[in-house]
Amino acid sequence: MNPIEPLVIKLAETRLSDSGVRHLAEHYSAVEWLEKAKQSQPNEAEFLIELAGRTCYKSFGVGLNPNVTRIRDNSRDYITNVLEKGDGSILEHATVTFAFLNVSRIFTHELVRHRAGTAISQESLRYVRPREIDLWLPPDLEPASKQFRETIQEITKHYHDLEALFDWDKMTFEQKKRLTSALRRILPDGIATNIIWTGNHRTIRWVIEMRTHPSAEVEIRKIFGKVAEICLQDYPLLYSDFTYKELADGTRQYVPKFSKV
Ligand SMILES: Cc1cc2nc3c(=O)[nH]c(=O)nc-3n(C[C@H](O)[C@H](O)[C@H](O)COP(=O)(O)OP(=O)(O)OC[C@H]3O[C@@H](n4cnc5c(N)ncnc54)[C@H](O)[C@@H]3O)c2cc1C
Repeated sequence: MNPIEPLVIKLAETRLSDSGVRHLAEHYSAVEWLEKAKQSQPNEAEFLIELAGRTCYKSFGVGLNPNVTRIRDNSRDYITNVLEKGDGSILEHATVTFAFLNVSRIFTHELVRHRAGTAISQESLRYVRPREIDLWLPPDLEPASKQFRETIQEITKHYHDLEALFDWDKMTFEQKKRLTSALRRILPDGIATNIIWTGNHRTIRWVIEMRTHPSAEVEIRKIFGKVAEICLQDYPLLYSDFTYKELADGTRQYVPKFSKV
């Protein structure tokens, strides 16, 4: 057993098409607004969300919609108002993709319960036959770390004993897949695995709130604490209402002023 730590990597995020944005601005006779707005808002995800929102009321400037007599003329005021009003659907236009590596099946099982606004690709333990059983040692088990390691070594031994009863070299890929899947039944829930997860910002805000709550499981709390750190840094307006509290175990609870926008 190798000791491992869960890893959070930001893989991808929504970017703008400059020519498309200009085309939209021309359509609305809002090129002047666009040029001014882009100077003060370099964040592409936040800008896309603002564009989508402003399209709803033609609020790219006074006069485009005769019903609109004043507009919020900066992104901070615009996005803050969206969060306050709970107009969260426009946050769905921009997504972030994360790789969660060295995470347990306990974590992935909890993660996939969040269905709205997500895309998921999880390492298959039908296809992938583990050589090692790597696990993260939860802090609560640190006083028993020796026994924990010994238990995993025992399970690993039993796994390889069972595996050795079959002649893998003579099998088709399909047969290997069936047997790998049958064998995984004795693997522990804590076995390290990998998952790619995409969420839109409406979803990410909600999952951070739920999964950094003190009543959430420690591993998902630790991981979504890292997700929160990344999002607060990279999308400062979309997460501007979040504050955090340090918890006794070193993780953080992130709390938004506006829950579930
Ligand atoms: C501390 C904690 C303990 C938990 N304990 C358990 C447990 O013991 N057993 C258990 O089974 N689960 C448990 N869960 C999981 C929990 O019940 C949810 O399934 C999970 O958190 C997903 O959240 P969500 O329902 O908000 O779904 P998400 O997919 O994150 O959806 C976000 C929101 O969209 C709306 N929505 C999504 N799907 C639908 C839909 N089909 N219809 C209508 N509205 C929808 C809802 O408003 C929902 O809150 C726990 C979660 C936490 C945080």
